[in-house]
Amino acid sequence: MYDDSTSTAGHGRVLNREQFVAYAKGRIDAATTLLDRHARMAGICSCGRALPCPLAQSLARTAAHFRGRLAAVAGSAPPRRGRRPRAR
Ligand SMILES: [Zn+2]
Repeated sequence: MYDDSTSTAGHGRVLNREQFVAYAKGRIDAATTLLDRHARMAGICSCGRALPCPLAQSLARTAAHFRGRLAAVAGSAPPRRGRRPRAR
């Protein structure tokens, strides 16, 4: 039977708080793990791309985004100040 409340799989999926926290933590872990493969070397990223490495930037943005969302969900979001994601 068609259930409207649970059928929005994919983009519009609604997660409850616990699910979102688990999801966000997973995304942060994944991004952080992948970021370990992108270290600045002499003039290039360790993945072989030119600096700034677009992949590393994207991963850092993803991690920062979900850290911010987690903080917001936890109700401990600091007012939007430029808290820098941990540089690796
Ligand atoms: Zn890279």
